Amino acid sequence: MAQPQLVDKEIVVTGFDRLPPTSMLQDQWNMVKQVVASDIGASHSKSWIEPLELLGLEGMTLVLGSPNSFAKDWVENHYLDSLVKAWKQVNMVIQGVKIVIHEQHPVAIANTNSIVETAAHKNQDSFESFEKEEPGSYTGAPLDNRFTFENFVVGKPNELAYAAALRVAESSTPQFNPLFLYGGVGLGKTHLMHAIAWKIRQCHPARKVIYLSAEKFMYQFVRALRYKDMVAFKDQFRAVDVLMIDDVQFISGKDTTQEEFFHTFNALVDKNHQVIVSADKSPSDLENIEERLKSRLGWGLVADIHPTTYELRLGILQAKAAALNVKVPKEVLEFLAFKITSNIRELEGALNRILAHASLVGRSISLDTTQEVLRDLLRSNDQRLTVEEIQRKVAEYFNIKMSDMVSNRRMQNIARPRQVAMYIAKQLTSKSLPEIGRKFGGRDHTTILHAVRKVQELCNEDFDFANDVEILKRSLQT
Ligand code: ADP
Ligand code: MG
Repeated sequence: MAQPQLVDKEIVVTGFDRLPPTSMLQDQWNMVKQVVASDIGASHSKSWIEPLELLGLEGMTLVLGSPNSFAKDWVENHYLDSLVKAWKQVNMVIQGVKIVIHEQHPVAIANTNSIVETAAHKNQDSFESFEKEEPGSYTGAPLDNRFTFENFVVGKPNELAYAAALRVAESSTPQFNPLFLYGGVGLGKTHLMHAIAWKIRQCHPARKVIYLSAEKFMYQFVRALRYKDMVAFKDQFRAVDVLMIDDVQFISGKDTTQEEFFHTFNALVDKNHQVIVSADKSPSDLENIEERLKSRLGWGLVADIHPTTYELRLGILQAKAAALNVKVPKEVLEFLAFKITSNIRELEGALNRILAHASLVGRSISLDTTQEVLRDLLRSNDQRLTVEEIQRKVAEYFNIKMSDMVSNRRMQNIARPRQVAMYIAKQLTSKSLPEIGRKFGGRDHTTILHAVRKVQELCNEDFDFANDVEILKRSLQT
């Protein structure tokens, strides 16, 4: 789905063989790099433009190789305009720039796919003896490319955590130490942790960052004990500038690990090195964690992520659909945001299922297919909104009697609100047409279908009517 992003929008070049770079082109590339550096600043240029490799020309499009997809996306999103502009200045023939992932790229070959520029290197020999399967990643876990600040949708529930995370990532000395992020499962803690690590890497490439889960910390600690390698273990964790431990609740009850973590923690904070911790509860609510550690964890800034709101869920779905470059009808996104309230992971999962289904069966996405594909999932997310509630709200809004929702009266000022209620029932509940029909005085499913179409039609024609329907939907969704 994610086509290499071209360039100058009006020109799409395909089907050309790639010509290898001439020495003239290479010289021009060196000039372009200078122009871009003065445009975006030397440090960004060093991190993002320098690693690009000139691969050649395809038609009038210049092709650059990037060591990995993260760097490729980043350059496309941030520096493509600047690159295209510079190239046009230096060589008038060039109309666009394309970035491709270049597997033979020297950086790609050297890259261990891990954030950790380990202090471990000096200890490598001793580690290799017991972790041959993961050379070079002894201490840290790899980072997810998608978990960046740019991809994080901010809303009321997470604005504090987001702001705190960004601040910590951008500043070169600790502003709050530790930063303690907490919230329920699937609400974005790990996403924010990775985003911090990516950002530090970008803003302060010299700082040593280690990100890992508390479980992994524990596992490595136990192993170090077993192999009598404690000195190396300690040195390694204490040599970092930023230590990030995810899901710290997992060290509950493990006394010796807690002890070690506590000492590591103190050593780093004393040296004014940043510590960032996440958990599913606030420091004081953590169970089976020593008092002194709990209180220490609460010393810096404690930022919580609250359960999602409808607006945030809708925003995330929109952002995700846009990032994947797929068109999903508005009513489908609204339906999902309304129905899947548990957490963001499940919300994303639901969207992915719909997209996968649509691409497999080759049908476009609609509210009907959505309800069908997600039937089991929707059943487990509770049915909070009943047809009766919809009828009551709509009747109240249009000032008709509740009994008219099920009556046979056909005057337009009664029949129309009834149709609106049928329409909303179809949009916001996962009831089938016959089920909805039964709730409206035993009407046939074709009547409901007719109502749904009629209301859709009217919404397209009549702005005020559309507005009424929108207000009603909103009020039922909160
Ligand atoms: P946690 O660690 O709190 O259990 P994660 O960070 O793993 O949750 O988030 C679960 C999923 O939801 C991830 O795919 C993540 O990218 C996504 N997610 C969470 N919060 C947001 C947000 N505010 N914007 C976009 N995606 C989010
Ligand atoms: Mg997590």
